[in-house]
Amino acid sequence: MKVELRADTVELSGYVNAVERKSELLPKAKGRDAPGDFREVIKQGAFADSLRRNPKVDFKLNHSRVLPDSIELEEDNIGLYACAQVTDEEIISLARAGKLKGWSFGMNPIESSYKQASDGTYERDISKLDMFEVSILTHRPAYPATSVELRDGRVIEYRASEITPEELDQINQYTLNDMKAEDLFTFSVILCDNEIDRDGERFSVSALEKLSELYVGKTGIFDHDPKGSNQSARIYDCSVVTDVSRTTAAGEPLTQLRAKAYMARTSSNADLITEISAGIKKEVSVSCSVSRISCSICGTDHRSRPCEHVKGKYYDGKRCHFILDEPTDAYEWSFVAVPAQKGAGVTKICSESEQEEKDKAIIAAKSREIEILKMKGRKNYESESTY
Ligand SMILES: [Zn+2]
Repeated sequence: MKVELRADTVELSGYVNAVERKSELLPKAKGRDAPGDFREVIKQGAFADSLRRNPKVDFKLNHSRVLPDSIELEEDNIGLYACAQVTDEEIISLARAGKLKGWSFGMNPIESSYKQASDGTYERDISKLDMFEVSILTHRPAYPATSVELRDGRVIEYRASEITPEELDQINQYTLNDMKAEDLFTFSVILCDNEIDRDGERFSVSALEKLSELYVGKTGIFDHDPKGSNQSARIYDCSVVTDVSRTTAAGEPLTQLRAKAYMARTSSNADLITEISAGIKKEVSVSCSVSRISCSICGTDHRSRPCEHVKGKYYDGKRCHFILDEPTDAYEWSFVAVPAQKGAGVTKICSESEQEEKDKAIIAAKSREIEILKMKGRKNYESESTY
């Protein structure tokens, strides 16, 4: 799901569901005619056909409240594409908080068939369906929504959006073997922003833009435990999102660095996936180096020489803070369950000359400080599932 914040609206767009692609393994649920666990394929044209017959589709939040805004829906060669300009205040504030996790749709399958696959599971083809609802979700289930309910005497089913083929291509740039959507779990995190932190420092917007390039492909670990090599995630996409309706203490529009990450679904990290989905794993720490730390009052680079200004003090009504700029590297990012683990994950830097050594020691200390801050200052750090 793509979220674009404007002053008084938010634009949401993205694929609600793909066609002609196998879903993750869905459990046989009560009330459904499935002979066993199955993977599902929605056939090309099924959404277009439903929209022709019934263009009126409810647009809801979490399958409950009907939103006042309209949603444009269209089936293209990838799947069902949605786009909405939302003015609803609750949705705007959820979007600002990074809490919109994805799409889901409700349908009544009209023509579907099952056949058994070689591994004993089933495959279900849906060639005709009635879609009556598209929802925005503030949570994403660990597995795609498979809830089934009886409404007005008919069985209806819900599906949450999965990984799109484009995302799969992005992810497979980083994998040894091509991964399938059903083997992957994706989520997104807010890594950092341009707000002044409790240490009186902030990233510049250009630093966030540079970090958005540097963080793509970077590995994240959990609880700073590098030994669980399969318990790691990797960032496959980053974006810098500006919210013009929110102003930082420095008077700039709030700008966040958001990242999308994937991890393999394995039996050993099933608990982690559940924790991320449930929002229990939320705090993220980042570790990076910057080559410029400048005073907001006089612009002096504190890495070369300090100026007379003191962080937190006011000069002509302006509060002095330091601006972290010109990032040179992004080392890692980590989920931290217990923010008290202060010194964890500090990055070592090798260097050539003594002066460089000295410089880099400062940067290393800074990156450590940043990391500690990000673990403590959790107001902007929260996990969210993608889409
Ligand atoms: Zn200064």
